[in-house]
Amino acid sequence: FVIPDFQGFTKHIEEFYWKCKSNTEGKVAAYIPQLARMNPDYWGISVCTIDGQRFSIGDVNIPFTLQSCSKPLTYGIALDQLGSDTVHQYVGQEPSGRNFNELVLDYNKKPHNPMINAGAILVCTLLKTLVSPEMTLGEKFDFTTNYFKRLAGGEQLGFNNSVFLSERESADRNYALGFFMREYKCYPDKTNLRECMDFYFQCCSMEATCDTMAVISATLANGGICPITEEKVLKPESIRDVLSLMHSCGMYDYSGQFAFKVGLPAKSGVCGGILLVIPNVMGIFAWSPPLDPLGNSCRGLQFCEELVHVFNFHRYDNL
Ligand code: GLN
Repeated sequence: FVIPDFQGFTKHIEEFYWKCKSNTEGKVAAYIPQLARMNPDYWGISVCTIDGQRFSIGDVNIPFTLQSCSKPLTYGIALDQLGSDTVHQYVGQEPSGRNFNELVLDYNKKPHNPMINAGAILVCTLLKTLVSPEMTLGEKFDFTTNYFKRLAGGEQLGFNNSVFLSERESADRNYALGFFMREYKCYPDKTNLRECMDFYFQCCSMEATCDTMAVISATLANGGICPITEEKVLKPESIRDVLSLMHSCGMYDYSGQFAFKVGLPAKSGVCGGILLVIPNVMGIFAWSPPLDPLGNSCRGLQFCEELVHVFNFHRYDNL
């Protein structure tokens, strides 16, 4: 086993759980009613090692929409299907140093990276327009959901239609980003922007639980092979790129500080989730809706910091 004393390890996770539970800072995202209604007390942590040992505590079976936690997944699928060179003709690898939905492109007039909204919208146009372009919107939705499910080892993964409809209705900024990039000819030829925006909102509206997301995280930690089913879902070279950009760009405008303090690839979303990957060891998902001013889950962030305080998981521990 990769964690020989798993029981002992889970005792610590439990301890961190209770410690973070008393943290009542932050505000639940309120830009759509479905998120605003989320109970701020929800708090769950799920762990899945690369050899399939599992542990979870708290609200780990309540479905929530993935929101930006879907961005590393769609990016991974695009890499696997198109190769890194093609994907990065369209999107950069640099942290933006700005808000996740800021109306800004890099000095090449490309979106900075695939982990922020502009980059993720761009990745959706690549998946829609360049990967099997003959697929209809419905087929492309199934194709993508199917990938997410395989990453999750077949565990519970759904779609929340009311979140999708609300996202689409209150998406002025995302449309602004979409048109801004069209003005700068960021997209492949033949891109249908309206369809691609819908596809982006659909990816944000995929729904899963903390337990399911920990399996996805473990698949990333395991080089693209799902530890539950042993299926090879994504290529190791795609995972390498995904983890690299999660490390430098995954935590919004806190990414640099997170890389310094925690030293692990992670991706957060406005749902209050943090997908945390300990490469070659385990995947963790922490979920609690209240967010700090930068958009990261308050309890989730505290948990990540507690974890590396006790365990040597930081990339530059053990030198
Ligand atoms: N649906 C959200 C948006 O596009 C996702 C952003 C996020 O999770 N930070 O604005």
